Amino acid sequence: MARDPDCLFCRIEAGEIPSTQVHSDDLVIAFRDISPRAPTHILLIPREHIRSAAELTDSHAPMVGHLFAVAAQVARDQGIEDAGYRIVTNIGRGAGQTVDHLHLHLMGGRPMTWPPG
Ligand code: AMP
Ligand code: ZN
Repeated sequence: MARDPDCLFCRIEAGEIPSTQVHSDDLVIAFRDISPRAPTHILLIPREHIRSAAELTDSHAPMVGHLFAVAAQVARDQGIEDAGYRIVTNIGRGAGQTVDHLHLHLMGGRPMTWPPG
């Protein structure tokens, strides 16, 4: 499985950097964002190093489907489903991406405005 030793989220995935995990399986992990922008702010990442959603191909379909299914399950587990929540992925610096390892932001627990800034 592709890995980048200099990637922050690869290092979290490997357990080299601590994180507060809320889900872990063969394909994906989910952990709390270190700088939460909402009462519930969780990051979901594939274990495989993929730089962003722009790098995805059809071969990633099972993993991406699973990533969203886990996000929905985590939202239920965290009790934010009924009020509604947001799933976001930033692609590129201009969109706010700071860590070049594909991740979904799962955010909830407060009203969300639209469009995001
Ligand atoms: P993005 O800006 O979309 O690339 O999202 C990266 C996210 O990673 C930001 O929301 C950061 O707060 C978060 N983050 C950075 N370092 C850590 C860390 N060590 N543990 C958990 N989340 C982190
Ligand atoms: Zn990585």
